[in-house]
Amino acid sequence: MISASALKALREIVGRENYLDSEADKLLYSYDGTPMLRQKPDAVVIPRSADVVSKILRLANDEGFAVVPRGSGSGLSGGSVPVPNSVVLLFPPMNKILSIDEVNLTAKVEAGVITARLQSEVEKRGLFYPPDPGSANISTVGGNVAENAGGLRGLKYGVTKNYVLALDVILPSGEPIALGSESVKDVQGLNLRDIFIGSEGALGIFTTITLRLLPKPEHSVVMMMPFDSIATVGEFVAETMLARITPAMLEFLDRNTIRAVEDYAKLGLPTNVAALVLVELDGYKSVVEAEAQKIAAIARKLGASSIASAETLDDATRLKLARKSAFSALARLKPTTILEDASVPRSKLPEMLLKLEEFAKQESVLVGNFGHLGDGNLHPTCLINERDSDEVRRSERFFERAFETAVKFGGAITGEHGTGLAKKKYLEMATGKTQVDLMRKFKQILDPNNVLNPSKMFDIESLFRSKCERKIARPT
Ligand SMILES: Cc1cc2nc3c(=O)[nH]c(=O)nc-3n(C[C@H](O)[C@H](O)[C@H](O)COP(=O)(O)OP(=O)(O)OC[C@H]3O[C@@H](n4cnc5c(N)ncnc54)[C@H](O)[C@@H]3O)c2cc1C
Repeated sequence: MISASALKALREIVGRENYLDSEADKLLYSYDGTPMLRQKPDAVVIPRSADVVSKILRLANDEGFAVVPRGSGSGLSGGSVPVPNSVVLLFPPMNKILSIDEVNLTAKVEAGVITARLQSEVEKRGLFYPPDPGSANISTVGGNVAENAGGLRGLKYGVTKNYVLALDVILPSGEPIALGSESVKDVQGLNLRDIFIGSEGALGIFTTITLRLLPKPEHSVVMMMPFDSIATVGEFVAETMLARITPAMLEFLDRNTIRAVEDYAKLGLPTNVAALVLVELDGYKSVVEAEAQKIAAIARKLGASSIASAETLDDATRLKLARKSAFSALARLKPTTILEDASVPRSKLPEMLLKLEEFAKQESVLVGNFGHLGDGNLHPTCLINERDSDEVRRSERFFERAFETAVKFGGAITGEHGTGLAKKKYLEMATGKTQVDLMRKFKQILDPNNVLNPSKMFDIESLFRSKCERKIARPT
């Protein structure tokens, strides 16, 4: 428990109106989108400025409590789940779009801005912010930077890190620091900015973020095609790359996911096929049309019996809804939804997709698979009942085998959801001990008292214990 005097000091820093400590509030912020991880914080606060964030971190060092930054809590690795003796810092109220610069092609935003709001504001000016996580309607830009979120347009446009120019960060000590710059080119010294991107709220807290924008593509087409075998969708990706086409979106849903989505959203999807592939092409109209013809020819060659195509916004949105509803639709099948994340090089997709089906059968677990096919980034989703300990164990074995195989194939245990609490037990297997030790050293240099989002990604046991047991002096 954080001491009453520390909580009083905290209340004075943020103001009574920005301090929440009812049992209902603590419960509300005790979890994120990750199943089976819950921990109530001692208090939840809304910091309205960078200066307040700074003061909270200084107090945390003085008083020995942990600080957990939280965007919208849509994370899927437990990144914003509180730890014992912690205070949650809520960022969604810090949500100003500070500027959209049409000459420099940049947007400067506060960390709590919702991703879809930024996308729509820049699109009104003929600009484009490409990172598009499936959670864009709820996730914050701060959460996206902290997880280096990917999404549906990763194949052609990359992920969040490709759009971050500058970050205003409060270090764990409470010291503010400005990383990167608003200039497109900046190679001054070591690239510290990029160490903070994807740091899962454990190295620093972002208050404002400057992002790169692009001109909005002139035209786009969305296509959907069914395949009779799961391995064929992997071949479809290879053929598309060999045709030198880079779709903006290349997604898929497997049979279990298609059936769940159709049952949920009634979109008229074919339910007797092994997989559906969704492709979006964007750019100049003539180029998009020529590429669409080539894609249709590849799909037909690989046995796709019908190809739906949408050019109007309404029709395209309807086709994309099939993919965007996957999580919600699968979540209706069983009480507990474990949406996971692994990536492999594209060339390994046919083998990986078959392996996942094989592991699900062998472990007797219900799995729906979907994801960012063009990135080799799969989201096998286990539907279980967390009260059934045997089913929980079988799902753990399924994921263990899936992650080991992804690593064996040259991939990663997470492509975009992060390590957090959920995946830290696999990190050393994936990266090796030397790398994890180096990560620990970075963390220790920046956060010697381990006050900022401790226990995420990896443990620093001795420090965390000492933080809980006694007060530690503020780092100088
Ligand atoms: C239906 C669904 C679909 C999804 N689709 C995708 C997808 O396509 N691609 C993808 O990459 N992810 C996806 N996600 C995962 C999730 O939405 C992303 O990880 C997102 O970036 C989290 O944003 P958030 O605002 O909810 O952050 P939170 O979940 O609140 O926090 C995530 C991490 O960021 C840290 N953090 C939050 N704000 C700050 C800050 N201001 N400064 C420092 N650290 C901070 C937290 O401590 C935590 O470690 C999906 C999730 C759901 C539920």
